[in-house]
Amino acid sequence: MSAPIVTPVPAAAFDVEAVRAQFPVLAQQIRGKHLVYLDSGASAQKPEVVVQAVADCYRGYYSNIHRGVHALSERSTTAFERAREQVARFVNAPSPREIVFLRSTTEAINLVANSFLEPQLGPDDEILVTEMEHHSNIVPWQLVADRYGAKVVAAPVTDRGELDLDGLTRLIHGRTKLVAVTHVSNVLGTINPIADIVRLAHAQGVPVLVDGAQGVPHLAVDVQALGCDFYAFSAHKVYGPSGVGALWARAELLAAMPPYQGGGGMIRRVSFSGTTFADPPERFEAGTPDVAGVIGFGAAVEWTRALGLDAIAAHEHELTQYAMARLADIPGLRLIGTAADKAGVVSFVMDGVHPHDIGTILDGEGVAVRVGHHCAQPLMERFAVPATARASFGVYNTSADVDALAAALDKVRHWFG
Ligand code: PMP
Repeated sequence: MSAPIVTPVPAAAFDVEAVRAQFPVLAQQIRGKHLVYLDSGASAQKPEVVVQAVADCYRGYYSNIHRGVHALSERSTTAFERAREQVARFVNAPSPREIVFLRSTTEAINLVANSFLEPQLGPDDEILVTEMEHHSNIVPWQLVADRYGAKVVAAPVTDRGELDLDGLTRLIHGRTKLVAVTHVSNVLGTINPIADIVRLAHAQGVPVLVDGAQGVPHLAVDVQALGCDFYAFSAHKVYGPSGVGALWARAELLAAMPPYQGGGGMIRRVSFSGTTFADPPERFEAGTPDVAGVIGFGAAVEWTRALGLDAIAAHEHELTQYAMARLADIPGLRLIGTAADKAGVVSFVMDGVHPHDIGTILDGEGVAVRVGHHCAQPLMERFAVPATARASFGVYNTSADVDALAAALDKVRHWFG
């Protein structure tokens, strides 16, 4: 059996019912109610083609990659490297050799922190992030900064949840070593103007890393058009398997970076008198990777690309606008994050109700949302709330899902009213 074949959905027709039919997990009842899955921001569900691609690998041709001369290893290696091409095409990377397969966005950012940033970091140097970052785009920088007396500073966010670009510009200076910013906020849904931020940073010779975890599921990403230097993302948020992610980086940056983790698969030659390392991307892929997971990642991005990122963005934009309008009508509910440019995420708090109680009551109605700090505690502090409830949309959500959310929130209001 050969590598998986992905059957794309025709790009022209964005038929949400046809999309839903490809996600068997959605066709179930929770506590006697239809499942309304509004937690894709935490992790998206998987379409049949992705499940099939992973199963085909294990059933038909699974083996470890790269080092085998036998037929199965060759087939697995071919499928794995084809996934690299698919992921490169998905973000319009100039070359598949600029795609490093890792566990996640988190691991990709840790790689850049330890391999790219650390060798050039000194006392009083700064890494500039923003107040709306996920902990994954704060803590790895703090860990390396602490070792060198450097610090992490945050650009301000406005009351609407937009990045204050003037504030950001004022914080870029001679000791800024890197700007690290999210493409889309996982709490506010704000889409940041990455190309503008890159222009501002590059004008002062500062490289830019983009946390694309919430970018790739919602927007057509073109790393060349964005002009950034690093783009990190996870498969599981873009309909692929969990435990797999990627870093795109410019070839010349990767070439100059030392290894982050040592092990098999990342060396040229090992001896006790000294070891030499493989070229990128293998230099950064120590150990046996999640072979089937990466193949599933390739299938997921092909499927998403075939569906059409512009069609997906339009569908989700409509849903987000509808949800904001419906929720704004609920007495005592306050939206957190009302940026003009916003993708697929609606966060809110309700007077006198803890977000965890909202989450529990909604679950009783079959509506799955996330509640808590969303791994963005500095942002919670910025908005002076301990936590929020968050509905996040995927390709399979419908306006009926929003209606179900609004109806369930009415119940919350009556319980606490
Ligand atoms: N950044 C953002 C904006 C996210 O939403 C997430 C996941 N919630 C991450 C980073 C981390 O992604 P992962 O857990 O897949 O590494």
